[in-house]
Amino acid sequence: MKSSPKKTEKPVKKEKAILLQSPKGMHDILPEDQPRWELLRAAMRAVAHFYNFSRIDTPILESADVFERSVGEFTDIVEKEMFFIKTRGGDRLVLRPENTAGVVRAYFQHNLSRLGHPLKLYYEGPMFRYEQPQAGRFRQFHQVGFEILGAEDDSLYDAQIVIATVRFLEEVKIKNVMVSLNSIGCKACRPSYKKKLQDYYKGEQLKICKDCKRRLTLNPLRLLDCKQEQCAPIKAKAPVTLDYLCAACRHHFKSVLEYLDDVGLVYTLDHRLVRGLDYYNRTVFEVFMERSPLSLGGGGRYDYLGEILGARKTPLPAVGSALGLERIHDILKERDLLQGKSLRPDRLNSVFLIQIGEPAKRKSLALIEEFRKARIHIIESLGRESLKSQLRVADKEQVRLALILGQREVFEGSIIIRDMQHGTQETVPLVKAVEEVKRRLR
Ligand code: AMP
Repeated sequence: MKSSPKKTEKPVKKEKAILLQSPKGMHDILPEDQPRWELLRAAMRAVAHFYNFSRIDTPILESADVFERSVGEFTDIVEKEMFFIKTRGGDRLVLRPENTAGVVRAYFQHNLSRLGHPLKLYYEGPMFRYEQPQAGRFRQFHQVGFEILGAEDDSLYDAQIVIATVRFLEEVKIKNVMVSLNSIGCKACRPSYKKKLQDYYKGEQLKICKDCKRRLTLNPLRLLDCKQEQCAPIKAKAPVTLDYLCAACRHHFKSVLEYLDDVGLVYTLDHRLVRGLDYYNRTVFEVFMERSPLSLGGGGRYDYLGEILGARKTPLPAVGSALGLERIHDILKERDLLQGKSLRPDRLNSVFLIQIGEPAKRKSLALIEEFRKARIHIIESLGRESLKSQLRVADKEQVRLALILGQREVFEGSIIIRDMQHGTQETVPLVKAVEEVKRRLR
């Protein structure tokens, strides 16, 4: 039996709508936002270069074991947030939820200690976590990160990681950066703190949330990560890590703080800060923008990660941080919109070529090549005909100069250079076009 047209139309519409949606929690980065993303990447490169970090790129897919072992079996990331892929060959892979474990895996796989100690590496790229999407929290997001591996367990490098993280934010003109710091101790002293914390929470069992009841036995440190209101008063009175640090950890932390004091970097101590991943020890930190509850980045020391991954039997001193680019990008975008600022600072050294009439169009491609040789960025709209419509595009592109080539100019061997900001223009010989533009852009 044929169905009515009404009935057949509906599912088609629904199907189309789904096809036109990016996956939940994953976003396109549109051309209009690309200049800001480029700015972020350039800032990362500049800071990494200054502090001598070399770039590393690891695959987006890693073996699931890498994260199960390192991030921790009983962490949110491993328990609930990994995107799994089972290959036809039976390999268990995941879309990386973070990149530190992958960098350490690469360090051992390629014997990167041969490059000298300490080895400073930085990365940038997409990460994936199956989280409930909400403001500032996505399923695909981008991180940039710094790692310092193999430096003798030196507090100086903890400080340098914090400094580089803050400098990156300053490089993109984010001020009012707040740094929260804590130390969660080492293998020697953490067990006694964990026990103290467990004992305390056991006495409060009836008042804590369902998740905390699980954490109490599986991952007690994460009790301090709980954001539930009902657990807040209990968390506030919980024992603090700093009271249980061994002498070596206490000394290490004090020394990190002194280094930060020396460069005048302002921080606050946060006794509740433990960070969600299992591989951290000693220093942990997060960076925020004033009055915002969402962290922009965080990191810490992870001396045991090499052992956890089964690569060695002794600790590999290491410390690192990662910053979330989406959150930083959104701050820049909001600020640009508020200030009505040009979104195209990269256009300040660009020119726009306007051509009117067939002879001018014919000359255009060769002229563009001349500008390319001179490394001057030239934008065109060769498909358009009228002066008005091309000027409108030039205006939208926010270029400083427009070149106007009409029939008369072609005939005379000249070109008009128009200053888009002031509306003034001047005719110059065509053969001198590149030279004259260069002079004006200077
Ligand atoms: P983490 O790797 O969890 O320490 O996070 C480091 C930084 O990455 C955070 O401070 C955020 O800026 C960013 N980040 C972490 N998870 C997400 C997410 N689901 N969506 C967007 N950004 C995130």
